[in-house]
Amino acid sequence: MTPDVLVVGGGPGGSTAAWRLARAGLRVLLLDAATFPRVKLCAGWVTRRALADLEVEPHAYPHTIQPFASVTVAVDGREHETAWNQTVSYGIVRAEFDTFLLRRAARAGAEVREGTRVRAVRPERTEVTVEANDGERFAVPLVVGAGGHGCPVARAFGDVDAEEQVVVTQESETRVGLERLRGLTARHGTPELIAEPDFRGYGWYFTKGDFLNVGIGALGGLPIRERLARLLARLRGDGRLPAGLALAPFRGHAYRVHRDRPRRLGDERFVLVGDAAGLARDVSGEGIGPAVRSALLAADAILAGRPARYAEDAARTFGRPERGLSRLSRHIPESFLVTLARLACTRPGLRRRLLLEGAFGMG
Ligand SMILES: Cc1cc2nc3c(=O)[nH]c(=O)nc-3n(C[C@H](O)[C@H](O)[C@H](O)COP(=O)(O)OP(=O)(O)OC[C@H]3O[C@@H](n4cnc5c(N)ncnc54)[C@H](O)[C@@H]3O)c2cc1C
Repeated sequence: MTPDVLVVGGGPGGSTAAWRLARAGLRVLLLDAATFPRVKLCAGWVTRRALADLEVEPHAYPHTIQPFASVTVAVDGREHETAWNQTVSYGIVRAEFDTFLLRRAARAGAEVREGTRVRAVRPERTEVTVEANDGERFAVPLVVGAGGHGCPVARAFGDVDAEEQVVVTQESETRVGLERLRGLTARHGTPELIAEPDFRGYGWYFTKGDFLNVGIGALGGLPIRERLARLLARLRGDGRLPAGLALAPFRGHAYRVHRDRPRRLGDERFVLVGDAAGLARDVSGEGIGPAVRSALLAADAILAGRPARYAEDAARTFGRPERGLSRLSRHIPESFLVTLARLACTRPGLRRRLLLEGAFGMG
C-alpha cells in the first residue's frame, strides 16, 4: 500500500499528526528511529491547552500526571512563589506520554514502524522519496517532518538558517517514589525554576508523581557542565538532593533556536511541525504544546487538500520568528536585558503574566 502521508518522527508532533490524519481515514505510515518507550530529554510539564488540543482528559490519562497550581522562581538565592486558584499545567513523564500518544495513533489506523530511521529524503517534482535504514524506499505525495531537531525532512527541503543559536541542556529523571519525594520537598508537584545568574538560562527541580526531574538549559556563556555543577551544589546544600539519593545519569542535548530568518514550513509536498520547524518557545523552551498545535494545523491543511496553506497558518499562529522579542533583544545592551529579566522574575505581576503565563504558557 502506498501511504497518502508519510510521517517522520513519532514524538508529540508526529503522533498527533498521524492520529488526526488516520482518524479522518487517510493511509498514514509513521517511521521513528527509536523503539518506544524511548527517553526524550524533557522536564515534562505540559500545558492545559496542549492536553485539550490532544483531547487528553487528565483524570482519564492512565500514567503519571501531576497537576500543579503554583510555581517557584528562584533568583539570586531568593524564592518567589506564584500561585493560581486552579491547576495551570501538569507534569508528565515523556517516556510514558509519548508512548501513549503513539499507540493511540496506531489504534486510529496509522501504521507505525519503530526502530526505522529515515536516512534520506529526496524531493522530486510531484512526490517525495523517503529511504529507511533497512533499505526500504517509499515514494509518497506528502511527508510530515516531525523528526525533532535535525529532522531529515527539514534538511532535505533546504531549511538552513544562518543565524541559529544553540541552547545546551542537561537533564536527569529518576523514579524516586512518592514518600521519599515528599520528604525532600514540602512542595511536591510544584516546579521550581532557578534563574542562572547571567539570565542566559535556568535550572529546574520538578517532582511529579514518583519522579524527580532535575535539569538546566542555557544559551551560550558559561559551559553547561559548570552551570549544572553549581545547580547540584545548591540543591545538595539545601537538602533536596541528599547524598544517598542516586540520580539517573545526566544526559545532554543541544538544539538550535532560529532567531532571524523565517523558516520554510511547508509546500505541496511537505510540512514541518514541532521542533523540526523550530517552534519551541524561545525563552522557556516549552515545545510540546507548539508541536501538538502545529501538527493539528498541518493535519487540517492536509485534510482540506491544501497542504501549502499550513505554512501561512503556522506563521499566523506562532508568529514570524524575525518579529519576536528575541530579535529586539539583539539591539539592546546585555546589562539592560539582565535587569529586565530580573524584574520579570521577581515582580509578582510581571512574573505571573509575562514569564509564567506568557513565556511558559501556564495558566
Ligand atoms: C532538556 C529539555 C527540557 C524540555 N522541557 C520541556 C518541558 O518541560 N515542556 C515542554 O513543553 N517542552 C520541553 N522541552 C521541549 C520539548 O521536549 C520538544 O519541544 C518536543 O519534544 C518537540 O516534539 P516533537 O514531536 O517536535 O519532537 P521530538 O519529541 O523530539 O520527537 C522527534 C522524534 O523523531 C524521531 N526521529 C528523529 N530523527 C529521525 C529519523 N531520521 N528517522 C526516524 N525518526 C527520527 C526521534 O526518535 C523522536 O522520537 C524540553 C526540551 C529539552 C531539550
